[in-house]
Amino acid sequence: MVLDNLGSSLRGSLDKLQGKSRLDEEDVEEIVREIQRSLLSADVDVNLVMDLSSSIEERALNEEPPGGTSARDHVLKIVYEELVGLIGESTEIPLEPQTILLAGLQGSGKTTTAAKMAWWFSTKGLRAAVIQTDTFRPGAYDQAKQMCERAEVEFYGDPEEEDPVKIARDGLEATEDADVHIVDTAGRHALEDALIDEIEQIEGAVNPDRSLLVLDAAIGQGAKDQARQFDDSIGIDGVVITKLDGTAKGGGALTAVNETDSSIGFLGTGETVQDIERFEPNGFISRLLG
Ligand code: GDP
Repeated sequence: MVLDNLGSSLRGSLDKLQGKSRLDEEDVEEIVREIQRSLLSADVDVNLVMDLSSSIEERALNEEPPGGTSARDHVLKIVYEELVGLIGESTEIPLEPQTILLAGLQGSGKTTTAAKMAWWFSTKGLRAAVIQTDTFRPGAYDQAKQMCERAEVEFYGDPEEEDPVKIARDGLEATEDADVHIVDTAGRHALEDALIDEIEQIEGAVNPDRSLLVLDAAIGQGAKDQARQFDDSIGIDGVVITKLDGTAKGGGALTAVNETDSSIGFLGTGETVQDIERFEPNGFISRLLG
């Protein structure tokens, strides 16, 4: 079975197909309705939900189940394939020297993610350093420093310096022995011009190999604007969804992935440095539908 932990009403509709070898229109409609309900309550963008459901409906009605496959397994496979088609496989993160820039709004979990990712790379045998350029949020420096100590990774920041671009440049130099540089940036409560200008300048200074957008799993429909703006300014190569240990399902990430034509790289699942996982479509899709 490709999906486990499905929500009970969707599972119920699927279970009604048990023993059937063909699907009729009514069966398909009921399943599609359940899928729509699950995805909308997981905060997936309405237009995306509509596109997905029409593809699922069309395929479920027109494609013959391969010999020996029950109608239930056939439709489940279609649902899974359509969602994987949208979400994609996880963002490619090569285990080699690189610079990664993190972008996102204040509170999205960037600083925590920077330390977590550095820890993750260190478990893969790479020497990682975090460069903290957030001069905007009080406490960002201390927080990053402490987390990096806990993660046993290098850290660079300068609480006396006000220019984040200078910190970024100095940080790369100061940590040049590290293999992987993770550059944390300031967020704001909203997408102000000052935030976008600043991150564009930092991007120009550090010339990252990849830029990741950090999104709180609870972001919901607001994901679209954020993703669009960050993608237009620095180019987004992948998304990190944080706070998946909470109740939010993270459907906003789908919107962001779709908007930036990227994929999901990492999941944040707690407040400590080890609470990070590489994205894996199966578990995430089960969660969205659950
Ligand atoms: P930033 O402003 O984007 O740098 O966000 P922070 O890294 O400071 O995170 C904001 C808050 O979210 C902090 O209290 C973090 O401990 C918390 N946080 C970040 N990631 C996660 C996560 O995956 N799970 C949980 N439960 N909390 C998280």
